[in-house]
Amino acid sequence: MSEPIDQKREPEPLEQLSSTDLYVDGEWVPATDGSTLETIDPATEEPIVAVAAAQADDIDAAVTAARDAFPDWRDTDPDERGRIVYEVGRLIRDHADDLAALESLDQGKPVSQAKSDVIGAARYFEYYAGAADKIEGTSVPVGPEQVDYTVREPYGVSAQITPWNFPGNLFARGVAPALVAGNATVVKPAEQTPLSSLRLAELCAEAGVPDGVVNVVPGFGDPAGKALTEHEGVDQITFTGSVPTGQRIMTAAAETVTPVTLELGGKNPAIVFPDADLEAAAEWITTGIFTNAGQICSAADRAIVHESVHEDLVEKIVEIAESTEIAPGSDDADMGPVVSAEQLEKITRYIDVGTSEGATLETGGETLEREGYFVEPTVFTDVDPEMRIAREEIFGPVLSVLSFADEAEAVEVANDSEYGLVAGVFTSDVTRAHRLARRLEAGNVYVNKWFGDTNQTPFGGYKRSGIGREKGLEALDSYLQTKNVAINVDGDADLPGS
Ligand code: ADP
Repeated sequence: MSEPIDQKREPEPLEQLSSTDLYVDGEWVPATDGSTLETIDPATEEPIVAVAAAQADDIDAAVTAARDAFPDWRDTDPDERGRIVYEVGRLIRDHADDLAALESLDQGKPVSQAKSDVIGAARYFEYYAGAADKIEGTSVPVGPEQVDYTVREPYGVSAQITPWNFPGNLFARGVAPALVAGNATVVKPAEQTPLSSLRLAELCAEAGVPDGVVNVVPGFGDPAGKALTEHEGVDQITFTGSVPTGQRIMTAAAETVTPVTLELGGKNPAIVFPDADLEAAAEWITTGIFTNAGQICSAADRAIVHESVHEDLVEKIVEIAESTEIAPGSDDADMGPVVSAEQLEKITRYIDVGTSEGATLETGGETLEREGYFVEPTVFTDVDPEMRIAREEIFGPVLSVLSFADEAEAVEVANDSEYGLVAGVFTSDVTRAHRLARRLEAGNVYVNKWFGDTNQTPFGGYKRSGIGREKGLEALDSYLQTKNVAINVDGDADLPGS
């Protein structure tokens, strides 16, 4: 385990930010009532910087700016839109080290993991840029009397509410396809981690994104997020975060009949069969649950292990857990702090719940004796499927290990969840892999690996894990609506069934 921090870190990463005000209509503006929020360094518990905190009036100004900017952006030649969006990706690559340092400072993650998130952010802009001039409609055959075709049009103003676990990367995941499709955006980053989104707004402007097309309004869920999702001027909402907040947003969206894309939680199963490469399975599962200190919707939360290899696999997992180095993000160890005092409190509460429910704490379970929100990689065995630590999303580095006797039981336990984001299967039997890939109720299935998704692969949840898909070409569907155009070319023809 690492040494306590003996001095405060220099906040040089802040030097790249020209302002910590709201970014509205291409200008930096304070909140109308002067409100600010403090973003905290999770490694030291010290404030990093005060950031303007948007209120309802500020949200209104941002939505108005986006509405006004939308028609020109929509009507910009698609190849030009694509070039601008590609340029955002290039600038992100150019500034990748600085952005990674900023993200690591604000969010807590090891700087090389932050760098990989930043490169992933660049990739979203690059990937979607190429689609800008390939958003095609269809020609529909309805007989000689009518010419009929579809066009795919942007909604208008896309509201993006992002969480604190991958702030800059998720900004890119939503903004890039929204822009390529011709929408204007208002982004409300999480109150814990607003800094990378402010910097990305600047890079968008530098790349040539017109004023008002990307607005960034840090603030709290209430009032800022709430005002944004309730706003009459918002035409589409993309949200990543917890199920209760997703439900609130969907309720708000119902009032204005606004479409939502929701990527919510998970309690993702990793099923390990006796024929699996156990060494590799232990590596993938620990990567799956300890990366980003477990604060990932697609974390490997539940290892469901065949009873014949249970002991062997647990031994390997515990060994990796205990050799995981923990340190502030800037030290670039294996794992950093969790994002906030609140999150640390939630995780330690779940560790207590696991112990009191009768699960066996194999390793971890303690917070570190130092400043910062650090908790050990934690592994529970003897976890029963009914226990809360087997059912509820913890969002921390806490693995619950369950066991099974046969394949049917493994599938039943895996699917016995209100969530359905990702699921993993470890086996050397290819037919079994395909069989389970069909039966598992999850938007993404990984076989003999974890985190098998990338920019090009559609990602999203079954059941309460969400609605719609992010990533891949399919994500563009969230930002486009279809218009059918029917042109009468031959007098008074009346189509049957109309
Ligand atoms: P957590 O509880 O872990 O902070 P949330 O799902 O509540 O996760 O937060 C994700 C994002 O949703 C953040 O940007 C947060 O500010 C925002 N948010 C929280 N409450 C609301 C709300 N009622 N309406 C809109 N956005 C909200």
